Amino acid sequence: MAKKDYYNILGVKKDAKADEIKKSYRRLARKHHPDVNPGDKASEDKFKEVQEAYDILSDEKKRKVFDRFGYYADNLDVNSPFSSGPTSSGGGGAAGYDFSGFDFSTGPTSGGGSSFRDIFSDLFSGGGGSSAKAQPEPPRAMPKKGRDIEIPLALSFEESFTGLTTNITVNRSEQCSRCQGAGDTGGPVVTCPTCKGKGQVMRTGGRLQFSQECPDCEGTGRRRQPCSVCNGKGVTPKSEQVKVKIPAGVDTGSRVRIPKKGHGGRLGAEPGDLFILTNVGKHKFLERKGDNIYITVPITVSEAALGTKIDVPTVEGKAQLKIPSGTESGQKFRLRERGFPSLRNPTLRGDQFVEVKIALPRVISEETKDVLREFERLNPENPRKVIGLE
Ligand SMILES: [Zn+2]
Ligand SMILES: [Zn+2]
Repeated sequence: MAKKDYYNILGVKKDAKADEIKKSYRRLARKHHPDVNPGDKASEDKFKEVQEAYDILSDEKKRKVFDRFGYYADNLDVNSPFSSGPTSSGGGGAAGYDFSGFDFSTGPTSGGGSSFRDIFSDLFSGGGGSSAKAQPEPPRAMPKKGRDIEIPLALSFEESFTGLTTNITVNRSEQCSRCQGAGDTGGPVVTCPTCKGKGQVMRTGGRLQFSQECPDCEGTGRRRQPCSVCNGKGVTPKSEQVKVKIPAGVDTGSRVRIPKKGHGGRLGAEPGDLFILTNVGKHKFLERKGDNIYITVPITVSEAALGTKIDVPTVEGKAQLKIPSGTESGQKFRLRERGFPSLRNPTLRGDQFVEVKIALPRVISEETKDVLREFERLNPENPRKVIGLE
């Protein structure tokens, strides 16, 4: 039998405390678990080795034997001064663990010390201590506030400006009318039907399966006869039309709270809330930033030079904007309080900013070219000279 340094395998010191060993084991078992490393023989071997090391070091008696003899075999007794090493008959002995026999659904074995089967049940749930202890009286349900519900809602740019009232179908739950959310009606104590008495239920997280404390019996495996109306859940499903009022000014990502329209509470506790998560569509020309609106509008050379009045789209229809003579390309104008109402203070409104861009005419005819040459003759000023470039 090859001698292995179990302390080295688990990466702990010789005087490591039990919980230190357990912590290190959990970390390594997770890292090398065959579900995490499918088809990786090296990880599989490492996983077995880590199991073996933990099996010895987590058992006080076995650990003493290992500390004394440098290896472990069942026939060694640390208390016997005459014990002189193994008679190598164990045929595998402690090394004979095979993870393929693991059944994650197996709940903690009752009474067993710190075998890795126990620890496995909480390996992936992040739990720490032992969870299942048989108790004479099953736990009593406690009043519990219902969970919140979040529902996305798409609305148009214009709807986000005006606000919107609509009906939404919400699949929520309500406190059971028969048991008032207790989950039972005080009947006899029975084996928990949810976990079949194991105290643990299976859950799937990604590709991993792991067991978790049964929520219906709090891990005890026993409970009072479940209520026949809610099957012991304390709440019953309900599809409900909920009237939803979306205030003016919401943006993408706004959360609108509708109180007490989440899942039902238990034993008289309040229901959770309903949250509407808004997603606002785009406008063809207008762009929103905060409560302000931005738009770029093209104007002609002569409009910029001579000045004019133009119609500009806003979220409420057209607005007139005065372009003064001598307007430069890129100049910005403000339309006061033509933006979105503030969600925090509905009496306040953002502004709309209009950036004008001078659009050059497409010069096609000889006649236009002649006009432009004449224009240049009348306006000989060189704009580069004006700013000192030339
Ligand atoms: Zn019920
Ligand atoms: Zn249960």
